[in-house]
Amino acid sequence: MNSIEKQNILNYLPEELEAIISELGEKKFRASQIFGWLAKGVSCFDDMKNIPAALRADLEERYYIGIPEAVRRQESKDGTVKCLFEFADGTQVESVFMKYEYGNSICISSQSGCRMGCTFCASTLDGLDRSLTGGEMLAQVLAMRKLTGEDIGHVVVMGMGEPFDNYDGLSKFIRLIHEKKGYDLGLRNITVSTCGLIPKIREFAVDFPQVNLAVSLHAPNQKLREQTMPVAGKYGYDDLMQACREYTELTGRRITFEYAVIDGVNDSAACAKELASRLKGWLSHVNLIPLNEVRGREYKTANGKSVAAFKKILESNGVAVTVRRTLGSDIDAACGQLRRNR
Ligand code: SAH
Repeated sequence: MNSIEKQNILNYLPEELEAIISELGEKKFRASQIFGWLAKGVSCFDDMKNIPAALRADLEERYYIGIPEAVRRQESKDGTVKCLFEFADGTQVESVFMKYEYGNSICISSQSGCRMGCTFCASTLDGLDRSLTGGEMLAQVLAMRKLTGEDIGHVVVMGMGEPFDNYDGLSKFIRLIHEKKGYDLGLRNITVSTCGLIPKIREFAVDFPQVNLAVSLHAPNQKLREQTMPVAGKYGYDDLMQACREYTELTGRRITFEYAVIDGVNDSAACAKELASRLKGWLSHVNLIPLNEVRGREYKTANGKSVAAFKKILESNGVAVTVRRTLGSDIDAACGQLRRNR
């Protein structure tokens, strides 16, 4: 048995577990019991009290429960907790726990590193390490819940990585966390953020119409977007806008457009007016994010005045807009920073 590499049991849906359990010569109903224990966050098979010892031993021989270890942890005065999690193979990702009026939320990573190359982002500085499995994405939620002792009712896939560059892992994660026998998280309590991989936006609209979609726009036109987001070279602005319109038509859901406001780059009144003209009359919402300054990147955060003016211009054109509340500003808030500041 030692020659078999152990598999992470968090990667399996109940029906997949059933097949595994049947192969081990056990009754199928054990699969739901095991799935339930995993969603509770147990970290060893012996904690699965109603599972016969022989089955626990069989599982132990072939599988492991891939809850990551928190190798670094920062806590902010506002309750935000940021963790650097390390999986069994040494892969590291960041996750952030946040408290909002509507409940607790976690921002999870979909990849370790990223290959999208946005010039203002810390996660992409060293390129892509590897994509995470669905189970590893779920494990971040389980580990954070255990560490904070708090319930987590909202998940945003806005940490390290591009979720649509790991569509298989992402869709498995959504199925795992939504599963009734397990964590049972509502689809509307999940938000996925993409830099704009058009074919996947279309796939996502069909596969998960109830999951919220955020699109990182960060510019009012192609020329400016290309300067900070290399992905724009492959998927142009007009095509992206068209895909977003189709998404809203197909799903009836509004899209959130993220716009990191960068001093002297995309924070002018002209940019705001151009963005407003693009979004006028749409089922959309703009989330202005004061840039988190990243060591190793030259960009500066836009000052409060220009953010407020930007917001006003959008509002006066009937575009729904909010400025993201800055949480955890006293810790390494920008994604990818914790991993780099070792
Ligand atoms: N790859 C996905 C999700 C990861 S990042 C995406 O691009 O949407 C989540 C959001 O944070 C994105 O909108 C991203 O552009 C933004 N972001 C990245 N670095 C940032 C920084 N330094 N300051 C503010 N926002 C940043």
